[in-house]
Amino acid sequence: MSQQQFENFTASSLYCEKCKAAMPVRERLLLILPEKEIFDYLCTGCGSSVGQREVTAGDKMRAQAMAPQRRRRAPVQRIQP
Ligand SMILES: [Zn+2]
Repeated sequence: MSQQQFENFTASSLYCEKCKAAMPVRERLLLILPEKEIFDYLCTGCGSSVGQREVTAGDKMRAQAMAPQRRRRAPVQRIQP
């Protein structure tokens, strides 16, 4: 199974090869780079790494764009008399 499948959402439970089951995972910040952050997912049962996730600057910007935020007010339309 490809690990690419869960790179874009925060997983709370992943399949662990050692435990042979979907196990709750712990997210650990592995690496911080200027353009991205890499998270490691550790099985809470055996402690082995069951996956990784990369959050790129682009992902962050998209997340911010999705979230409701204070933006420039829409121009008020003037009603001509
Ligand atoms: Zn495990």
